[in-house]
Amino acid sequence: MTTITTNSHLIPLGSRPIDRAGHHRADPAWLEAAYKREDALVLLMQGGLPLVTAAGGLVWLGPEAAKLAPDAEPLFLGLDKAGTPVFAVEMPGDFDVEASLIAGTGEFTDFRQCLARLPEMDANLASTARSLFDWHRSNRFCARCGAESVRSEAGWKRDCPECKAQHFPRTDPVAIMLAVSGDKCLLGRQRMWPKGMWSCLAGFIEPGETLEQGAARELHEEAGIRCDASKAEYLFCQPWPFASSLMIGLILPAENEDITIDEDELEQAMWITRDEARRVLAGEHPDIFAPMRFAVAHHILNEWATRER
Ligand SMILES: [Zn+2]
Repeated sequence: MTTITTNSHLIPLGSRPIDRAGHHRADPAWLEAAYKREDALVLLMQGGLPLVTAAGGLVWLGPEAAKLAPDAEPLFLGLDKAGTPVFAVEMPGDFDVEASLIAGTGEFTDFRQCLARLPEMDANLASTARSLFDWHRSNRFCARCGAESVRSEAGWKRDCPECKAQHFPRTDPVAIMLAVSGDKCLLGRQRMWPKGMWSCLAGFIEPGETLEQGAARELHEEAGIRCDASKAEYLFCQPWPFASSLMIGLILPAENEDITIDEDELEQAMWITRDEARRVLAGEHPDIFAPMRFAVAHHILNEWATRER
């Protein structure tokens, strides 16, 4: 059975989207005027880190942002509910907040650390900006002819002046899945994770395969678990800004329980019961903790753990 639900909007990072108002992206005169508006909202990033207040929210600037980085090309994120234009600006590496006009407002802060504290819409906007800025940094040169390309459409495109190729920001589909067997589910952990943290298995979808096939392949490759791709159940998805992925949550019934891990991918994998999963989510398990609430893995585990058997 394949169940399509529509509750991706309840998952952090995608839950409070802005109106992207994409029709304005190709209108330089409108963009220039919008960026100068007194009520414009501008967030700053530096090297993928957002500028965050001591209280844990984004620092929102107005048109003064243009004075901080006159050469920066603002990324137009959209219009908020009041119709206010919202932008993001990537500051140069040598920009020092404390030596600038906005000294004392906040600090560029580790993204994962601040995500858990950001209001939902701020988290969505900062994630989007982070993915886009990362894409610009990694795609300065045309993939077709090697010439340096230029930003266009308010940061949503790059154009090659030589071969005229147009390049659009990409997002990579990733299956993130829970294999289940009766009243048990499969968790894994990677060597680099904090001690005690376990999560769903995940992997990039490869060209030529469906989402469900990719999920089943990854479970077999990483843990030796066989699943019938046609029995995969889609739950919800989440945009994920490390670097730019769409994490697509699935549950797959497993056909075997004997685990053979790929040690390049996983340190360990194991089955836990539904009761254990509930204790993990409640923070009451003595040995295991789950990813934080802003990660979709948390919600996949919760979706299964809170089901009646
Ligand atoms: Zn080119």
